[in-house]
Amino acid sequence: MDSETKFVIKGGRVVDPANGIDEITDVYIEDGMIARIGGKKNYQDRTLIDAAGKLVFPGLVDIHVHLREPGREDAETIESGSLAAVRGGVTSVCCMPNTHPPIDNAPMVRFIYDRGSEAYCRVYPIAAISKGLEGKELSEMFDLAIAGAVGFSDDGRPVTSSQLLRNALLYSKMIDLPIMLHEEDLDLSAGRHMHEGHASGLAGMQAVPAVAEAGMIARDIMLASFLDAKVHICHVSAKESVGIIRDAKEKGVKVTAEAAVHHLILTDEDVVKSGFDSNYKMNPPLRAKDDVEVLRAALVDGTIDAIVTDHAPHPPEDKDCEFAVAPFGVVGLETSASLIYDKLVRTGIIDITRMVELMSTMPARLMDISAGTLSQGANADIMIFDPERKWTVDSSKFAGKSRNTPFEGWELTGKPVWTMVDGQIFFDELS
Ligand SMILES: [Zn+2]
Repeated sequence: MDSETKFVIKGGRVVDPANGIDEITDVYIEDGMIARIGGKKNYQDRTLIDAAGKLVFPGLVDIHVHLREPGREDAETIESGSLAAVRGGVTSVCCMPNTHPPIDNAPMVRFIYDRGSEAYCRVYPIAAISKGLEGKELSEMFDLAIAGAVGFSDDGRPVTSSQLLRNALLYSKMIDLPIMLHEEDLDLSAGRHMHEGHASGLAGMQAVPAVAEAGMIARDIMLASFLDAKVHICHVSAKESVGIIRDAKEKGVKVTAEAAVHHLILTDEDVVKSGFDSNYKMNPPLRAKDDVEVLRAALVDGTIDAIVTDHAPHPPEDKDCEFAVAPFGVVGLETSASLIYDKLVRTGIIDITRMVELMSTMPARLMDISAGTLSQGANADIMIFDPERKWTVDSSKFAGKSRNTPFEGWELTGKPVWTMVDGQIFFDELS
C-alpha cells in the first residue's frame, strides 16, 4: 500500500449522523474504504488533506435525478451528470427511468450500470413501474430487481390506475424495493403550469391546485395502508400533502417522503417576478409562501425524510420559449448543498446534522444502498464543504450539459470543495 491509496482528511469537523459523530477529528482512508475516524495520529506515508475550518460529510446521496441517457444525450449524459454530481458533493445518484427508451427491462438496467461504471459517482437505476411508463401493464418487476434496479417509479407521470398500483405495491412487498410515486391528478393539472393561488389569480394564469397532488397522495397512502406496503412520495410540494403524510406516519403507515430543493426555497411569487421565465417551471409547480414554510417545518419534524434535486436537464433550445410551452424541470446537482446550507442551515431552520441526515444518511437508507455513512469499512465516499466560501451561481461554468437553473446569479455562502468516491478524488477546489 502506498500514499496513493492511503489518505488522512485532517482536522475537519466531521459530521456523520449514522454514527452520532460531530467533532473535529481526522478521517483515515485506506484502499477505498474508511479505515477509522480519530484515534492515534499517524500521518506517515499518507496523502494529507487539510480540512481545517471545513465540514467533512459522507458523500451526498440524491435519489431523484434525471440523467437523460439514453435518448437525450444533448441534455445530459451519465458521464456529464455524474461530473455535475461530484462538483455538488453528491457521490451516489439514483436515476429515474423516463429516458428514451425507458428503463423498463433488465437489459436497460444493466446498460445504466455499465455506463455508470465509468461515471464519476455511483449511479443506481430506478426502473419503471409500468411498461413504457404508459401506466397500463406492470413491468417485469422481479427481473428488474434481479438486474439491480434499486426502486420503481413512473416519475414524470402519476400511476393513474389504482389497480396497477395495487399490483405494484404487492410485488414491491415481495422484493422489498421502494415504489416512488409522482403524485398528480391529471384531470386537475392538464394544460396548467403554475400553482393555483393568489399569484396565479393576479397574473390571470390557468393553474394547478394543490389538491391535484394531495388527493393522489391520499389515495396512495390508503392503498399502502390497506396492503401494509411501503410507499415513497416524490417531490412533496403542498402543505396539504405534508398534513396527509404526517397523519399517516403517526398512524404507522409505511410512508416516506422527499422534498426537492427548489420547493424549499422558491415560491409562485418568484415565478411571476421572473416574468414567467421557463427556468421557474417545474412539476409539481413552485407553491405559495405558506407551503414553503410548512415544507420546511416538515424537514424538522421528520415528515420529510430526504431532500432531492429532481435534477432535470433541458438544453436551451427546449427551454428558451414561452412559459406555457416549455418543458418542466430544472437542474440542481451543482447547487443543492450550497442552497440548503445557505438558506436553511445558516438561517437556523435545520442544523448541520439534520442537513446531512436529509441529504445523505436517510436517502441511502430509503434506497438500501451502501452509502451515507463514514462507518469503519464503508466506501470512502466523502465530501468536504467550506462553510465560509462565497460564490455566485454561474450556469456557464456548470459541468452538466444544461443550464436551466432558477438560481442563476445567486450569491451563496458555503460550497462543496472536495469530493472522493471509492477512495478517488474527483473534485478538488480545496485551496
Ligand atoms: Zn416527478
